[in-house]
Amino acid sequence: EQEVTEYRKSLAIRVSGFDVPRPIKTFDDCSFSPQLKNAIAKQGYEKPTSIQCQALPIVLSGMDIIGIAKTGSGKTAAFVLPMIVHIMDQPELAKEEGPIGVICAPTRELAHQIYLECKKFAKSHGIRVSAVYGGMSKLDQFKELKAGCEIVVATPGRLIDMVKMKALTMLRATYLVLDEADRMFDLGFEPQIRSIVGQIRPDRQTLLFSATMPRKVEKLAREILSDPIRVTVGEVG
Ligand code: ADP
Ligand code: MG
Repeated sequence: EQEVTEYRKSLAIRVSGFDVPRPIKTFDDCSFSPQLKNAIAKQGYEKPTSIQCQALPIVLSGMDIIGIAKTGSGKTAAFVLPMIVHIMDQPELAKEEGPIGVICAPTRELAHQIYLECKKFAKSHGIRVSAVYGGMSKLDQFKELKAGCEIVVATPGRLIDMVKMKALTMLRATYLVLDEADRMFDLGFEPQIRSIVGQIRPDRQTLLFSATMPRKVEKLAREILSDPIRVTVGEVG
């Protein structure tokens, strides 16, 4: 235990919650498939960043997480890699419809970046990724979603439009990521986020990432996450 505490300190990590898994030291400490390990190596990721060291074992164990770390700390891979494992663990992928992983981000630029990161890791597993944000034709988007996907990366408003148009359902979704939650609140997306969360089964796994934790975001987190573990990296939060 002392050693784990020291290791967390060396990573500038603080945690709170019950039964927090110990942070990993290398990507090999995660039970990733050979394809996923290859994809990680291909990205040039030699070792996990601080947030990844602690978030990966938490998320891989199925727990909810609040991750607070500044921009550039590698939060995307911290939710994308376990999402690939989560999706590959689902039985009978083809039988139902709609995404299994749903990622919400505040802007189309961010959603697009996350989309690209997902594609890199999803490709070798035959997992389909769709991006859903403004600035693209709704008809094209509709058709793409109708063709099916396992992961959707979206801005909240456009995702709700697509659900209303019945381009997709949330019935199969079990892994929800709210990325840059503070910025989504700043942009006024709280009602849309609540609407999306309300459509996803309550036994889902929920991940919330944010650079800061204003009271409104804290309140939402308390309402929509189940016994989350909180991980804070560095001086933020
Ligand atoms: P954040 O979401 O915390 O702002 P990103 O996920 O966008 O951070 O990652 C920031 C940069 O770090 C990206 O260019 C990403 O490819 C890179 N990166 C992520 N994880 C690692 C890693 N383990 N090793 C090296 N680079 C990484
Ligand atoms: Mg990010």
